[in-house]
Amino acid sequence: MSLIVQKYGGTSVADAERIRRVAARVATTRRAGNDVIVVVSAMGGTTDQLIDLARQVSPSPPGREMDMLLTAGERIAMALLAIAIHEEGVEAVSFTGSQAGILTDSSHGQAKIQEIRSFRVQESLKEGKVVIVAGFQGVDPESKDVTTLGRGGSDATAVALAAANHADVCEIYTDVDGVFTADPRIVADARKLDEVSFEEMLELAATGAKVLMLRSVEFGRNFNIPLHVRSSFHDGPGTWVKETTMEQAIISAISHDTSEAKVTVRGVPDRPGVAAALFEPLAAREVNVDMIVQNVSEDGTTDISFTVPTEHVPVAKEVTEKVIVEIEAAGVDVDEAVARVSVVGAGMKSHPGVAAKMFRVLASNGINIEMISTSSIRISCVVALDQIEEAVRVLHAAFEPPRMVGGL
Ligand code: ADP
Ligand code: ASP
Ligand code: MG
Repeated sequence: MSLIVQKYGGTSVADAERIRRVAARVATTRRAGNDVIVVVSAMGGTTDQLIDLARQVSPSPPGREMDMLLTAGERIAMALLAIAIHEEGVEAVSFTGSQAGILTDSSHGQAKIQEIRSFRVQESLKEGKVVIVAGFQGVDPESKDVTTLGRGGSDATAVALAAANHADVCEIYTDVDGVFTADPRIVADARKLDEVSFEEMLELAATGAKVLMLRSVEFGRNFNIPLHVRSSFHDGPGTWVKETTMEQAIISAISHDTSEAKVTVRGVPDRPGVAAALFEPLAAREVNVDMIVQNVSEDGTTDISFTVPTEHVPVAKEVTEKVIVEIEAAGVDVDEAVARVSVVGAGMKSHPGVAAKMFRVLASNGINIEMISTSSIRISCVVALDQIEEAVRVLHAAFEPPRMVGGL
């Protein structure tokens, strides 16, 4: 008998009909003799609606209350799914993150799972019940307050539960057939990958391919749990995310991210300590700084640009405006009309020329590069927001992922 963790995303449980369909699939898996833990997201659109409601009430709602609010979304979905599974004639019990023993740190809105105490989950499995756990949430054991894990966090709940309970399989059911060579909503001829390595998936998730949340891929890699990303609408195979893959494509996929803004601090005096003076207070306020570029100018000052998630812009602005007075910089500009396109592929390590080709393709399509960053298997460029979809399409056409080493 196997233990299977199945995670269903928001679109997969968006209405009563779809919840019944998910219930039927879960019941079939249980009747085949497997133990099943189901992780469920809020019904499609619910989390966005709740965030919007809160904003209408306050421009800066307290993190604790936001988490109280948002966790309600998953709670509705889990109870409805439990009811639908009962209707199938299979016993099921739903748990909040707290009831399922998911303990996190205290960072509201972006809490990290610290420990999972699976007693109740294990007991219910032993009683032959399907266990349904609300995704995206946990509890801070010190304050006893509920927390959320960040957008897309149900993926992290699923993989962490799979690790803690030594599951045989972790299946991520979603609204696409698997991990594609680019976001299929933007590139019509993007292809499904049969498999992708944790290393590449980490880069893709970190650069906007929201089909898997970054933390879930980290758990998968750290605990060596292969993930099967597949469609909740049919039974066909999806994409296996695992340690090693058969082929090392030069380029496996193109990702893009429209959720970051560019902050530029102008006229920074060029002397030791200014970068630390800028980035220390940003770190202290938990601003997630991503790409950083420093341009040396001739008059002894430099411009420093960096990207931050758009929701961190107000704090980043407040902090940098204070710092520029201290370090006597000229000013701060924020540009939210930017986006990042990335090409990712493990074969890039042993195959020079990818960056040059990427820059040439963007240039010949009239797309200006504002910032560049690289890792050993990724190249990212920041471009204007209104050119991002074109950038993804032209790069996908030029690189034709997945291109295998030796296949060029
Ligand atoms: P769920 O609600 O099931 O968690 P998400 O909306 O979080 O689903 O993630 C699935 C979406 O991710 C797809 O609908 C697709 O638009 C987007 N996506 C972005 N990049 C990719 C990619 N490379 N492969 C597959 N989907 C991608
Ligand atoms: N409902 C949460 C969100 O929309 C978590 C998730 O779907 O994974 O981000
Ligand atoms: Mg998701």
